Amino acid sequence: MAIHRTKMLIIGSGPAGYTAAIYGARAMLEPIMVQGLQPGGQLTITTDVENYPGFADVIQGPWLMEQMQAQAEHVGTRTIWDTIVEVDLAGGAPFRAIGDSGDEYIGDTLVIATGAQAKWLGVPGEQELSGKGVSACATCDGFFYRGKKVAVIGGGNTAVEEALYLTNHSDDVTLIHRRDELRSEKILQERLFKNPRISVLWNKAVESFEAGTDGTLGHIALKDTQTGELSTLTADGAFVAIGHAPATELFKGKLPLDDNGYMLTEPGSPKTAIPGVFAAGDVSDHTYRQAVTAAGMGCMAALDAERFIASSNYEKEPSAQAAE
Ligand SMILES: Cc1cc2nc3c(=O)[nH]c(=O)nc-3n(C[C@H](O)[C@H](O)[C@H](O)COP(=O)(O)OP(=O)(O)OC[C@H]3O[C@@H](n4cnc5c(N)ncnc54)[C@H](O)[C@@H]3O)c2cc1C
Repeated sequence: MAIHRTKMLIIGSGPAGYTAAIYGARAMLEPIMVQGLQPGGQLTITTDVENYPGFADVIQGPWLMEQMQAQAEHVGTRTIWDTIVEVDLAGGAPFRAIGDSGDEYIGDTLVIATGAQAKWLGVPGEQELSGKGVSACATCDGFFYRGKKVAVIGGGNTAVEEALYLTNHSDDVTLIHRRDELRSEKILQERLFKNPRISVLWNKAVESFEAGTDGTLGHIALKDTQTGELSTLTADGAFVAIGHAPATELFKGKLPLDDNGYMLTEPGSPKTAIPGVFAAGDVSDHTYRQAVTAAGMGCMAALDAERFIASSNYEKEPSAQAAE
């Protein structure tokens, strides 16, 4: 069991965490990043990324995250493959965290970049066809279905917004919902019902996603939730939009969270209720949920961490990156 001490402890290795690390390292904060169970974060489970600035050609999500890790390490970040299982934020800085390995991490500042996970239906074919027609992000992948037939599964605000967004690319969008009314805000419903490019399939639950002859999504198998009748819907793309779960379990009762579990921060800032603790990326953002916005928030968190350390509010203790 080792003790790791740093001026900036980062939990999470998605775009928010790596960007915080790059800025933190260049500000001589000697960051330590604990990567978690999904090193590289959500982009490691996708293929084509076409909207991250700086790349004229389509790049692959896992490759982009390898580049971010290499850049963060190149400027001096220490990345550790461990998962934080407990945090102690009481009493203010320095903050303590315990890893699954038994190691202890102490940070003069803490950047929480634990992200979120899209909720999936858990039906056959969903994971196998993920990135091959099945997606959880219309903003990310809608562009790949220009002029094609797409479906959105869900009935809340996210599903309706995704369906409306997809009409920018497709004139054949089907919203599949397992009930006979939507949960989304009325104003969104009005827009949806008025849009001639969107049709709604009521009382239908997805049984499975089935591949076509080319190995990508061919059709969606459905079951009527009232009658049990089976049917299929041909689709080139299917967007599962049943919500996201932010990874904030660790912080319940320790930091304020909103009703959906997202970390609350000062508006327009990554500052949490505890001075020296910052939250960046999807863990605190249920609105934009993009790699570039997460990276931007990671940058803000590192700059604020630097200011916190430099401020008179925090009495600095000697910090050594490897006190183990
Ligand atoms: C299929 C798919 C395709 C997408 N495509 C695009 C796209 O094309 N363009 C785009 O801009 N965005 C895309 N996104 C969205 C983008 O991936 C996210 O907005 C972005 O990854 C959020 O970054 P983040 O750093 O906040 O967190 P995440 O990427 O979610 O990373 C969270 C990190 O926290 C770590 N972690 C969690 N808990 C712990 C713990 N207890 N201890 C230690 N570490 C922990 C995880 O291991 C992970 O490394 C896509 C998302 C998905 C799911």
